[in-house]
Amino acid sequence: MRIACLMFVHETVTFLANRTTIEDFTYPGSPATGEALLNAEPRSYMGGFVQVAREYADVELVGIESPLWPRTGSGSGWVTRETFEHFTSAMVRELRAKGPFDGVFMALHGAMAVDGIARPEAELAHRVREAVGPKAKLAGTFDPHGNEDAQFLRHAELGFTVKYFPHYDSHLQGQRAARTLVRTIRGTYAPTHAVVKVPIITPTVMQWTGASPWMDLVQRALVWEAREPDLYMNVFFGFPWSDVPDAGMTIQAIANGDHGLAHRAAVDVADFAWRRRKELVRAATIHSIRDGVRHAAEAVSAGRTPVVLADHSDRSGHATWLLRELLASGHTGALGRVLIATVADPEAVDAAVPGEAFDRAVGGLADESAGEPVRVTGRVLARDEAGRRGGSWARIDIGGGSEVVISRYLTQIIELEQLRAMGIEPGAFEVIAIKSRVHFRRGFDDSGFAPTILLVEPDEPFLGTVRLEALPYRHVEIGRFYPYGDPSGPEVM
Ligand SMILES: [Zn+2]
Repeated sequence: MRIACLMFVHETVTFLANRTTIEDFTYPGSPATGEALLNAEPRSYMGGFVQVAREYADVELVGIESPLWPRTGSGSGWVTRETFEHFTSAMVRELRAKGPFDGVFMALHGAMAVDGIARPEAELAHRVREAVGPKAKLAGTFDPHGNEDAQFLRHAELGFTVKYFPHYDSHLQGQRAARTLVRTIRGTYAPTHAVVKVPIITPTVMQWTGASPWMDLVQRALVWEAREPDLYMNVFFGFPWSDVPDAGMTIQAIANGDHGLAHRAAVDVADFAWRRRKELVRAATIHSIRDGVRHAAEAVSAGRTPVVLADHSDRSGHATWLLRELLASGHTGALGRVLIATVADPEAVDAAVPGEAFDRAVGGLADESAGEPVRVTGRVLARDEAGRRGGSWARIDIGGGSEVVISRYLTQIIELEQLRAMGIEPGAFEVIAIKSRVHFRRGFDDSGFAPTILLVEPDEPFLGTVRLEALPYRHVEIGRFYPYGDPSGPEVM
């Protein structure tokens, strides 16, 4: 049994001014091919898939040359058409040259947005299908932030979506994809699916599955899987920062030959989401930056530290709104020791020399959502020398035990270990200001580390705002979604 494996992922913030290009996907190690691709992400989809597929003595895996995550992470806009064509046409050529294949595994995300291609993951599956022929079986894995509808499953037999946010189960979904793809090739699993679109659109900061009501929604899908053998449920929360026609929430169910079961399960989970829609769209409290910093000072004086101040809305990484407010408030001493990690500014990283003084305006300017640069003065404590192009971060001591970390790209601090790897002991700070929506709960909340967590965004509804009605959508009709309009309810596709 021969299975080709490939990967093509991006979470595209189409409201950012920069484009995601071939160059962003091309760096030492990427694209990856053969064993390097199969070993590229051992804790994610590919790792889970390869681990289980290799338990079968008769399965041969072929790693097709694939780009890894772009350097920009999710801090970049529209993937250019040229980029999509460049990588997919190479994949198709290689699939044709190295075939025949019994199956293809595609590690995907679902929120890639490409100039001129409305549904890139479905288009990729379509091209892969043409390359490997009608008899091969196709499986994909997805992120819960994927914007998907029924199109992908018209070209592929199987899809498996991460259930938790933070994304704890990507390896598990890779494992399930392997087992079910092998069964489908052998003929012991006959995939049939149902897809229901739920007209709810939510900012990602709402979608934390560690608490109700998002936890309940995931639980509903898990219970279906637990009680029905061979049933798989996908709950796409959606990614509203991608202005694409299949945005919004989607429920998929895949069953073994029993279409009625897939239909019942998908409709049930969709109806459940619809009944809980009021709670789903306002699951998190968002403060203005000024109020957030004020609440942080109160928490510090009450001893409820460390405090996490998360600017969930910064999509470029360059935003300085929280930095400015913290530097202004820090002079009063009410915040104690403050760690600001991170503000993106590649030139400032290049200019930082360990041991020397630092005095320059950092961040800002990427677009209006980033604000103006803010002057940071102090001493350079350390700089990452291992990274590409002379380091990816620098630590600036700004006095009073406080620090600012500047980074080359948008950097989400989600684990305490990321800070420790920079030589920072997170427990030494009363306030830790980060750029993250939900991912940080992995290291700061689920671990019990931070008793106070405050989510903030600027007063203006910039591109990462929870006020989605302010975004310049061209492909999403926001009025067709709750809570921005008055849709009638879920729709079976
Ligand atoms: Zn995600």
